[in-house]
Amino acid sequence: MKVLVINSGSSSLKFQLFDMQSKSVLARGLVDRIGVKGTSLLKFAVDKNKEEKEVQAGNHQEALETVMQCLVAPGKGPLTSLDEINAVGHRVLHGGKVYESVLIDESIKKIIDDCSIMGPLHNPPGLMGINAAERLLPGVPQVAVFDTAFFQTMPEKAYTYALPYDICNTYGIRRYGFHGTSHRYVVRQALQLPALAGKEKKAVALITCHLGNGCSITASIGGKAVDTSMGLTPLEGLVMGTRCGDIDPAIVPFLQKNAGMSADEMDTMMNKKSGLLGLTGISSDMRDIEEAAERGEDKAVLALDIFCYRIIKYIGAYAFAMGGVDAVCFTAGIGENSPIVRKRICKGLGRLGIVLDEEANEAAFGREAIISSPVSQVLVAVVPTNEELMIAMETAEVTAKTD
Ligand code: AMP
Repeated sequence: MKVLVINSGSSSLKFQLFDMQSKSVLARGLVDRIGVKGTSLLKFAVDKNKEEKEVQAGNHQEALETVMQCLVAPGKGPLTSLDEINAVGHRVLHGGKVYESVLIDESIKKIIDDCSIMGPLHNPPGLMGINAAERLLPGVPQVAVFDTAFFQTMPEKAYTYALPYDICNTYGIRRYGFHGTSHRYVVRQALQLPALAGKEKKAVALITCHLGNGCSITASIGGKAVDTSMGLTPLEGLVMGTRCGDIDPAIVPFLQKNAGMSADEMDTMMNKKSGLLGLTGISSDMRDIEEAAERGEDKAVLALDIFCYRIIKYIGAYAFAMGGVDAVCFTAGIGENSPIVRKRICKGLGRLGIVLDEEANEAAFGREAIISSPVSQVLVAVVPTNEELMIAMETAEVTAKTD
């Protein structure tokens, strides 16, 4: 069985084609700068052969069309015909009350559309990707895999906001949590770490830190989520590339009244102009922030401090809420590749009994590694995420059930 996984952003479309028997990747890549006239960029890789070229992709359908041409390009692509694609899996951010992976039909598309208000950066492009795939691969099952699914095991006390109960009920306001596919994958991998083999699986308390452009942190016991930092939307919690994470909610009406900002302007500011970018005015990219901090630029030094401090606070809170923690795992772009960030966080967690193995930390880039010292009371690990494989497995499962 071959499954194409699609992850659509507002101006990008990432894809991976999997052979589900071997769980291997047959091709991967992305189309970037969709809709930016004349400068869309296609990156396409089969094994170690990589291709990069400018393409015409005015919208997601044109982007996907280009990808498909590459998939069947004689001598280059892994397929002889698009008929070999058995199913398409889509990463979908928010489905409100719908969270289990599901075959996409018109009613599911309407739900995704209705939930755009809670995922304005992700749901609309997600839907564009779905529509494009439907048109280009008619009759091929399309499956939605929701970012919120992993968090359905959270107890009521963790997902309920202390707002009037009826208002929350009426508007579906609660903590949903996001990056669920990533946290689920990392938790599964972590539970198989030989270093945790002696523990009873259903009692293992983990804290997984997904630190990428978006950042979130999840507490789980025995593989089941018990709390997470993102909320009704992916804005709550940690400091991110352009998102502010936790702030006093009263700042919103304060700025509306005193700076004359509209609800939309506030939303844009908090989602796209805050976080590392807003704090520094330099960049939303952690590599740039680290470099600027290294040069001694004050704002970058402060941003790095705030970023790590917020994570330390969450890890402390979750460790206490779970009555202890067995392992802390780092994943995603920053978590997998930044020894600087990991070191700062671990340094702030000495009271939890965490002792970092500095050499192991410095050597861990994009691969699974234990980075705590043998004397550490809590295991610390780098566990690379693989959301695409998880989506492909879910897609295969859903299609098998409906065959
Ligand atoms: P993701 O959203 O998972 O692709 O992660 C993107 C983030 O990872 C960006 O902030 C990058 O700056 C960051 N990142 C990637 N590689 C490194 C690295 N070597 N050191 C620090 N941050 C990195």
